[in-house]
Amino acid sequence: MVHVGIGYDVHQLVAGRKLILGGVEIPHSKGLDGHSDADALMHAICDALLGALGEPDIGHFFPNTDPRWKGAPSKVFLEAAAKQVANRKGKIVNVDATIIAQEPKIYPHIAEMKKRIAAALGVSEKQIGVKATTNEKMGFVGREEGIAAMAVASVDLPE
Ligand code: MG
Repeated sequence: MVHVGIGYDVHQLVAGRKLILGGVEIPHSKGLDGHSDADALMHAICDALLGALGEPDIGHFFPNTDPRWKGAPSKVFLEAAAKQVANRKGKIVNVDATIIAQEPKIYPHIAEMKKRIAAALGVSEKQIGVKATTNEKMGFVGREEGIAAMAVASVDLPE
């Protein structure tokens, strides 16, 4: 039976941090703030996968109070989510995601993001969708105070 999950994440843009999305370091004047590498895209995908399993969100498994995850590359969270799918004898069907960022331009980095997400999940790049949009200069994303990401995942489970 195919199960679907949804994920959403947002991190604040601050000076003095690297901007990492989909495992790719993107040259920019600001980066995303957070306990781990603050990769909002990977976090949203992780929550979508956990949601498809009916599990609680990423913060439940990787609390931001745990020093083990300080500065952690977010691919470890995706690897853990994929492991949970495998533990349930499931298969990831596909993942689709949208990044919402006013700046910088995301499109040139999407192919590499797909590669890294697919590698972390142990699936083909063809199963991963990544898109990006601006917020038409409106709201916190439009003011470049943060970057958001949303994702859906479908997982084929034996029950
Ligand atoms: Mg997050």
